Amino acid sequence: MFLATLNKLYNSLLNLLLPPQCVNCKISGSWLCSNCLAQISFSPTEVCIICGVPAPLKTVCKHCQNNNTLQYLDGIRSATYFEKGPIRSAIHAFKYGNNQAISAILTRMLVEAYQRYQLNVDFILPVPLHASRLSERGYNQSELLATGVSLSCQVPLNVTTLLRVHHTETQAHLDIKGRYENVKNAFSCVNDLLSEKIVLLVDDVCTTGATLDACAMTLKKTGVHKVWALSIARVPHVN
Ligand SMILES: [Zn+2]
Ligand SMILES: [Zn+2]
Repeated sequence: MFLATLNKLYNSLLNLLLPPQCVNCKISGSWLCSNCLAQISFSPTEVCIICGVPAPLKTVCKHCQNNNTLQYLDGIRSATYFEKGPIRSAIHAFKYGNNQAISAILTRMLVEAYQRYQLNVDFILPVPLHASRLSERGYNQSELLATGVSLSCQVPLNVTTLLRVHHTETQAHLDIKGRYENVKNAFSCVNDLLSEKIVLLVDDVCTTGATLDACAMTLKKTGVHKVWALSIARVPHVN
């Protein structure tokens, strides 16, 4: 915990002292230069009603027709598509470099997507981190984003109802099925403050949606009416 806080402080100081440099192409002047910003694939308005990949308006994409992977979420929306280059560099700088300026840029992308998809919800929730992971990292990156969206969109933030009760191994090496098994029982609701409400889960990257769907399962079992998810970047479907 102490080391994580120290590291965070060091990075914040460094960011204050050094002139801004684009996190992707390293050109001086801003944290994400206009050239790199222009290369980011922002999600269009017309997307699959379930998973949020581009699709004609109000239709379900082929992947969702063939795979019944999201069972509890009402839908996922993403601000951009995850690909090599600027968006990946920006998310990396946010996750591992504690870059506050980048955090603000990414939050703005989420807020724009919230408005683009008219996600009018009652509460905004981060994807919770397990207590042991939280003390290791010092902060929950998903909570930083959720707080920013909550403030900008003037929607209340809830961090007290949904908790991560089991520490899960990292998912990078798991396939879709493995990811679902891995997170199935990771979450728990400890009060009914969200009963009958429409909520939005906020996260940085959405790969398969397994973690978000596990959160939605737990929330719906305690009476939450609708659960939407919003991520900065969506990893394209593999099939
Ligand atoms: Zn650049
Ligand atoms: Zn879909």
